[in-house]
Amino acid sequence: MKIIMLGAPGAGKGTQAKMIADKYAVPHVSTGDIFRANIKEGTELGKEAKKYMDQGLLVPDELTVKILLDRVAKEDCANGYVLDGFPRTIPQAEVLDKALTELGDKIDYAINVDVPDENIVKRMGGRRACLACGATYHIEHIPPKTEGICDRCGKELILRDDDKPETVKNRLQVYHDQTQPLIDFYNAKGVLKEVDGTVDMKDVFEAIVAILG
Ligand code: ADP
Ligand code: AMP
Repeated sequence: MKIIMLGAPGAGKGTQAKMIADKYAVPHVSTGDIFRANIKEGTELGKEAKKYMDQGLLVPDELTVKILLDRVAKEDCANGYVLDGFPRTIPQAEVLDKALTELGDKIDYAINVDVPDENIVKRMGGRRACLACGATYHIEHIPPKTEGICDRCGKELILRDDDKPETVKNRLQVYHDQTQPLIDFYNAKGVLKEVDGTVDMKDVFEAIVAILG
């Protein structure tokens, strides 16, 4: 099962992708997590990506496409995966489509988690992330058991640099300009599914499970 999560930054793609990955036993592949891991390790890729991420801009397609194609070529992705944060542009989607077609394969579902912009800005300020294991929380909606500490791995939680309000506004603009057109792209391919992302995360997941079966 190959799934793409679509939606604005902060719509809940990562939250749902992790639940899908657990239930359907497929890897959760997040380009944002891959970039953040590289930033933490101080790699060249990390240094380059950080320049764009800190401004709320997209990392150029040339860099992003390569890391994604390398990742999905790994053994653990052979039976499927859930992509979170990729594709974010039409050219990225076209490259993925071509790579899959060459393997006689295709995306099964593109799930659009729909959340209006007004809700997004509030959510992002409350997001807390664990850079060690990738878990995300929300200080009001999905708090960790102990404030500031990851339930899963015990490491410290942080407010991402790019979740500050000024940057969130840029990210939303970038989303509308460059990523939202993917909704039509996948609709035309007959794989688009819409879910309401404003409800409780468990109810969002129920709607997704009803789609995936
Ligand atoms: P994305 O991966 O789309 O950027 P996240 O999954 O990281 O978004 O979610 C953004 C923030 O909103 C996080 O703090 C997360 O805990 C919270 N969140 C996710 N789903 C919901 C929901 N259904 N209701 C309220 N808050 C949510
Ligand atoms: P995310 O964790 O998905 O919210 O991504 C955080 C940031 O990483 C984005 O704002 C971009 O700067 C960068 N990024 C992640 N995925 C992509 C992608 N597919 N294309 C370009 N930039 C990306």
